[in-house]
Amino acid sequence: MPTIVQPEIPTDPLPAGLYIVATPIGNLGDVTLRAIETLARCDAVACEDTRVAGKFLKHLGITKPLWRYDDHVDAKTRDAIVSSLADKAVALISDAGTPLVSDPGYRLARAARDAGRSMTTVPGACAAIAGLTLSGLPSDRFLFAGFLPVKDKARRDLLEELSPVDTSLIFYETGPRLMKSLAAIDEVLPGREIAVAREITKLHEECRRGMGAGLMAHFDAHPPKGEIVLMVGPPPEEACQADPDDLLREALKTMKISQAAAYVAKATGLDRKQLYARAMELKE
Ligand code: SAM
Repeated sequence: MPTIVQPEIPTDPLPAGLYIVATPIGNLGDVTLRAIETLARCDAVACEDTRVAGKFLKHLGITKPLWRYDDHVDAKTRDAIVSSLADKAVALISDAGTPLVSDPGYRLARAARDAGRSMTTVPGACAAIAGLTLSGLPSDRFLFAGFLPVKDKARRDLLEELSPVDTSLIFYETGPRLMKSLAAIDEVLPGREIAVAREITKLHEECRRGMGAGLMAHFDAHPPKGEIVLMVGPPPEEACQADPDDLLREALKTMKISQAAAYVAKATGLDRKQLYARAMELKE
């Protein structure tokens, strides 16, 4: 086994400015060396939740003044942080992953840039990207749309708005809302492949790709726990060009024969009865 040489982390103070620091999304081993160095050398850490940040810093053996920050703080508080960047190095972290991505930081980063403060990013884990890499969905172009709205109509409206977008779609989701979102996607974006990545980098990490009905059947039987990235493949034009046998084989992994035939019929425009007969053959 090769030995991993842990470089020594310098502790001298950092130049003043804003440091946007990504932290792990589950597995603490995913913290980068630059993130540790930045947190060890900064003057203060601006964070979403001081308890979460305190625990994380304790794990790294680092003690720093913690400033609670979210984008809803009043302008005076934000201005005070921006002013402090003239002579202090402030690291911005969120509870997990990359700040500003469905997390606080956008307004602070914008204000810091507008004020001409020095700023840099210390990139690392982001659940949206990690989920996409696991999904098997096209990753050359994608649209990240944050959390789906909670209300049924707003969720439907957003999915309808996104229906012409010819790329993979990425959403953040929670366990209790997953079934409703799957049903809405199945209805508004029929014939699309869907992927659900759960608990990424954690003990119970799983990723499933399939059609809506199959995934709903699975998660009905195994209620999803933990954090979720929900992804939708591009419109079926791509699927139409795919081999119907490949689509049937994929669908049969999670669906009954009749459901698989109906889905592939929807996606390809081919005759459902013929697809049913072919699915029977493939199943044998
Ligand atoms: N800033 C974070 C990032 O870079 O991914 C996202 C913060 S957002 C408030 C939290 C959401 O991200 C969760 O509800 C879930 O949808 C997703 N998420 C975060 N960690 C995850 C994980 N380990 N597995 C799956 N999804 C995760």
